[in-house]
Amino acid sequence: MIDLRSDTVTRPTQAMRAAMAAAEVGDDVYGEDPTVAALEERVAGLFGHQAALFTPTGSMANVLAVSALVPPGKEVLCEARAHIARAELGAHGAIGGVTMRTWSHPRGQLDLAAVSDLFAPDLGHYFVPTAAISVENTHNFAGGAVLPLEDLRALRSFTGQRGAAVHLDGARIWNAHVATGTPLEEYGAVSDVLAVCLSKGLGAPVGSLLVGPRDLVAEARVRRKRMGGGMRQVGILAAAGLYALEHHVARLAEDHAHARVLAEACGVDPATVDTNIVTFDRPDAAGFVARAREEGVLIGAVGAGTVRLVTHLDVSRDDAQTAAKTLAGL
Ligand SMILES: *Cc1c(COP(=O)(O)O)cnc(C)c1O
Repeated sequence: MIDLRSDTVTRPTQAMRAAMAAAEVGDDVYGEDPTVAALEERVAGLFGHQAALFTPTGSMANVLAVSALVPPGKEVLCEARAHIARAELGAHGAIGGVTMRTWSHPRGQLDLAAVSDLFAPDLGHYFVPTAAISVENTHNFAGGAVLPLEDLRALRSFTGQRGAAVHLDGARIWNAHVATGTPLEEYGAVSDVLAVCLSKGLGAPVGSLLVGPRDLVAEARVRRKRMGGGMRQVGILAAAGLYALEHHVARLAEDHAHARVLAEACGVDPATVDTNIVTFDRPDAAGFVARAREEGVLIGAVGAGTVRLVTHLDVSRDDAQTAAKTLAGL
């Protein structure tokens, strides 16, 4: 089976497992796991921020990040298909007491005019005040689309004037970095808080990080514990992340090339594929997915009429070509 359902399906390589087995560990709730500390310091540094916090999932990093910026009873604005709005099972409302309003863009892009229209200043007692804007880069349900740095800079200057904050859901920020050559620090500079995943394209089995100012991260550490996310000898997981940062970032360019091969076979203009995700409309999406499975290719349907293919570490060039041939014939 060639599994193109998601870049979360990767299995740790032998070399990654060796790094995990050799990791120095301690009790991280006591602040005594040197490998977790090293990962947090490394990732904070990559984005030019003061601190970072290791979390079990990207969803937890997002909830901690958004609730650090948005107190209960205030709102975050985001694109309509954002992961925080659609795929975190209402966590921001259920746990954070945060409400959301959205703008829509066919490629998941920032629409600053729409943000400006939606933006609600704090007038005291009538409208829900806007405390933060959240952007997703790359944008998962918009087909792995990259958000241009200029747009993020414009957002940052808008929020600076209005006294709001920027949350960047960077589950796949590594893909945006490799696809555009934009230094990670530049993404850090346009964000108050970031959430980044190790368990997607980077191929680690578990783990994400929240990245931001020292005080905010210290408060998030308390909230993580409150949510049951205080973890003990997780240096073995942090070691997978450190290994991935060393060995699995530059190679994301291969995943992007494989995605373009698949796009072409499925009648999608490869020039519209920014990174490792290809989405396209098929009225019979469920049937298409079922036929592909019979032919040995696992793909996903996102919505009734949309198919999604995702390339990753466990999809070789041969796999991509084989899958492309199979899908072209369905
Ligand atoms: C996968 C993903 C997350 C986090 O997902 P978890 O499964 O909770 O780790 C967050 N944002 C985006 C855009 C994602 O694709």
